[in-house]
Amino acid sequence: MMNTSTSYSFYFMKLKQIMKFYKCIVQVFLMPFLAHFGTGFAAKRFAPKISIWILLISSMLIDIISLFFPTATWASHGLLMALIWTILASLISFTTVKFMQSSKRKHGVDENEIMKLNAFHSSMMIGLLVFGHWILDFIGWPLSVWLSNAEGVPFFFTNTPNYGLGLYSTWAGALITDIGVLIIGIIVYINFRKNQARKLDQ
Ligand SMILES: [Zn+2]
Repeated sequence: MMNTSTSYSFYFMKLKQIMKFYKCIVQVFLMPFLAHFGTGFAAKRFAPKISIWILLISSMLIDIISLFFPTATWASHGLLMALIWTILASLISFTTVKFMQSSKRKHGVDENEIMKLNAFHSSMMIGLLVFGHWILDFIGWPLSVWLSNAEGVPFFFTNTPNYGLGLYSTWAGALITDIGVLIIGIIVYINFRKNQARKLDQ
């Protein structure tokens, strides 16, 4: 049978385990993605004809690329590589829109969502979202609340030297920014959708 002090320490240990578990969940799922999704949602207001999914993927593209280079942060998040990914994403979206429009035209389709897209504007918006990810990471990194040995974003083709303004080096800074930008983005998105629906009703 447990005496009082051992049962206290038992519950204290359990509580610590639970806290650790929740902290892990927060760290994995909350940090540091949400702000990026916020920019993707807000972008819909400025690029209404581009699918929200494309906008959200663009805002996360650099993190998606990082999955393929797990040990080379510079390859996804380095300033120079981020610029290269941005240019590539813009070029790909520009040529994709142009190609889809010309094939639709060939088939005599004029009334189509794709025909309403402006290839240049779309590619600029996607480029802004892709590079906006790097800017947000530069402001937030090093993610010291997430990783004890966190570093900033590299500028060139190696993992050093690293820079960053370090907003995510405190929990308060990290949570307020991450959730704040997401909420603002969603509000911009919902307002835009409402206005759009109202216009359709008229
Ligand atoms: Zn990132």
